[in-house]
Amino acid sequence: MRYVSPWREAAPVAGTMGEPGARGRFGDYGGRYAPESLVEACREVEEAFREAWADPGFRGDLAELLAVHAGRPTPLTPARRLSRELGVRLWLKREDLTHTGSHKINNVLGQALLAARMGRRRLIAETGAGQHGVATATAAALLGLEATVFMGERDIERQDLNVFRMRLLGAEVVPVTTGSRTLKDATSEAMRHWVGATGDSHYCVGSVIGPDPYPWMVRELQRVIGDEARAQCAAELRTGLPDHVVACVGGGSNAAGTFAGFADTPARFVGVEAEGGAGASRGRLGVLHGCRSLFLQDGDGQIVEAHSIAAGLDYPGVGPEHAHLRDLGRARYVTVTDEEAVGAALRLARTEGIVPALESAHALAWVIRAAGDGGLPAGSTVLMTLSGRGDKDISTLKELL
Ligand SMILES: *Cc1c(COP(=O)(O)O)cnc(C)c1O
Repeated sequence: MRYVSPWREAAPVAGTMGEPGARGRFGDYGGRYAPESLVEACREVEEAFREAWADPGFRGDLAELLAVHAGRPTPLTPARRLSRELGVRLWLKREDLTHTGSHKINNVLGQALLAARMGRRRLIAETGAGQHGVATATAAALLGLEATVFMGERDIERQDLNVFRMRLLGAEVVPVTTGSRTLKDATSEAMRHWVGATGDSHYCVGSVIGPDPYPWMVRELQRVIGDEARAQCAAELRTGLPDHVVACVGGGSNAAGTFAGFADTPARFVGVEAEGGAGASRGRLGVLHGCRSLFLQDGDGQIVEAHSIAAGLDYPGVGPEHAHLRDLGRARYVTVTDEEAVGAALRLARTEGIVPALESAHALAWVIRAAGDGGLPAGSTVLMTLSGRGDKDISTLKELL
């Protein structure tokens, strides 16, 4: 039997993970599907970001904040005992060690700094489990901005600790009572609110989703993960490059930021989705929250609610660039069940002394499965982004174990 590679083309694909094309498109995906007033606001954000990103002064300020406030660079940790058990060489990029405990702070510090540069006095954000809300509240406090965070009423009930944390940091948390009262509705409400507040407020999107320029801008702000990891691999690995680069995918920001650092290498990219939130793996073309991408839909084209034990993966779609990377065969997207993720979290805790966020545990669950079934050849070098720490998930784990 002939071995058929799941990668349709040999990586890398020239020109991937640069700027989007005309009208903010990654292939067929992306764009700026928004009311006229937001189209204008997005244009302003794009212009400001382009200018800031080309300005060494802005880059320097951001690098300093990331270093002295967020704790970068994060280590690249060899998972020694687990690697021996799996027969692969697994390296972990430790975003769990950043201030506030996940990669979200990288994006938020960048956007908060941009908002201040644009003369905005307030950040608007949506949040599901509260991780992006807490990061936004943190950055707002640090830079002397106000923060208004939209959160579904059901999520507010489920995540009372993060709600309190945001209020402790001085943010206003606005309950959203429409629809399923979760992340999807909170995002719609935040965008609606921004329509009437574009003059003094910046909408701080939490992942590589939303209207152009957000998918591109958030990926650029998260590429610090991949750029650091690339330099660390060059110093640590015999070949200088990993064979596989793996990350979990909710909207896809930690994965996009990691992949971007290796876009011009032959490293194979794997994005791991939750079984119940598999936008890239099982979504269909649609338009939501300002962009055209892949979304979970029912027979009538209605967006279906996502379900995952990991709140950060509980989004029914995926960022447009991931949809494009999937079409190109540059990245592969796979799914993992809640049970596999919990098992992987426990295994990392017991072999390496690290309790990962349940989101990150999805990426690890695929590594464990693939090491067992030949998806990862023995001896492969695997770089995996550990997107966050598991403290927020302790009570979930306590109920299950
Ligand atoms: C929010 C979150 C994710 C998912 O978001 P992406 O944009 O896909 O990276 C993953 N891990 C953690 C720890 C998170 O908080």
